[in-house]
Amino acid sequence: MSNWIERDKQVIMATYGRLPIVINRGEGNYLYDEDGKKYLDLFTGLAVNILGHSHPEVTKALTSQASKFLHISNYFYNKPAITLAEKMLAHSIKGKVFFSNSGAEATEAALKFVHKWSKDQEEERNGVVVLKKSFHGRTLGALKLTRQAGVYQDFPVTDTPVYEVEPHNVNALKDIFEVNKPAAIIVEPILGSGGIVTLEKEYLQEISRLCKKYGVLCCMDEIQTGVGRTGQFFAYQHAGIEPDVILFAKGIGGGLPLGGIIVAERYAHLFKPGDHGTTFGPSPLSAALGNAVIDVLMEKGQLEKGNRVASELHELVTKLQEQFPSVISSVRGKGMMLGIVMNLEASSVKEIQRQLLEEGLMVDVTQQTIIRLLPPLTLTSEEVVLFIKAFEEKLQNVLKVDSNVIS
Ligand SMILES: *Cc1c(COP(=O)(O)O)cnc(C)c1O
Repeated sequence: MSNWIERDKQVIMATYGRLPIVINRGEGNYLYDEDGKKYLDLFTGLAVNILGHSHPEVTKALTSQASKFLHISNYFYNKPAITLAEKMLAHSIKGKVFFSNSGAEATEAALKFVHKWSKDQEEERNGVVVLKKSFHGRTLGALKLTRQAGVYQDFPVTDTPVYEVEPHNVNALKDIFEVNKPAAIIVEPILGSGGIVTLEKEYLQEISRLCKKYGVLCCMDEIQTGVGRTGQFFAYQHAGIEPDVILFAKGIGGGLPLGGIIVAERYAHLFKPGDHGTTFGPSPLSAALGNAVIDVLMEKGQLEKGNRVASELHELVTKLQEQFPSVISSVRGKGMMLGIVMNLEASSVKEIQRQLLEEGLMVDVTQQTIIRLLPPLTLTSEEVVLFIKAFEEKLQNVLKVDSNVIS
């Protein structure tokens, strides 16, 4: 075992289950370990490195901003932040941005905003509706919105009422809107760590319609699905709806910590000086990278290129499902966000992940039996084939041991 792994165990708290690899560097769609072994990165640091590693445009923005200044404070105007906000709004709704540093902080900002908004309503409104198995972060406010065993544990969370509904159950949602008069609903258009559950377009449209009808604030958590990940700049755009609040983080910073919320213009004035703040939000360096990410994706055509490769990936994974119907139950997701639902015990799925890693292919496993792919939008057709071949071989091996497949 690497000396670094031993040293980690001595000094870093054991809050993460790790894979036994020490990364030395990244280039393009690959990461390299201590021994120089190369890995195709198919989960991009959990949906962060949307343009892979050391992308030349991102590196250029990084060095250029680093040579000017790294940090000022929110007492001064931050040019990279202003241009980034302009770009994000140009690709989403008419509104205003608040920048934070991470996803959970975006959720916290959204929760505080929901509170401010509810105080501004004539009718009393309180609480937030979320979906079963949703993930919105791990800070004490966000934690109550995160409905997953093993994450939402016995911590003293906020006393804001939270109502949980099953995805796609419109009647349950309508009842809660009518009876409980919540202030907001916060949903991931595709539930990420909940197992890549793609919300139907019609369901998202129904959420949007009911929000308008009952005066509930419609908030989309695009922290994982945003910034081109699912084929549109934001995933809610597939449904043609207009949310009131959008949460973003992960992919936007090109690898640096960056997040925040976008609030519709008609409500943006509700956050007043002193209502919310953070020292770093946003770091001019992170914001400079955010600008580069959007330029490459939206102006230089990388989103379109990525979408073409993503459809090849979906097509080939779906073929594998047809070829191995007893092993793969379903294939879910959109764009560069895929869930391959395995009909295997958790230990067998872990073993497939381990074998793929040994062969230089990094995939994630979520909800124990779902192989999650979050590849960079710079993935190539050749790399798709590389993954499919290796994965096919693993599936064939699984079939050789009949007891693996759950009947
Ligand atoms: C990752 C994630 C978060 C939390 O983001 P952090 O930066 O880890 O705090 C919130 N919501 C969704 C949908 C996520 O995927």
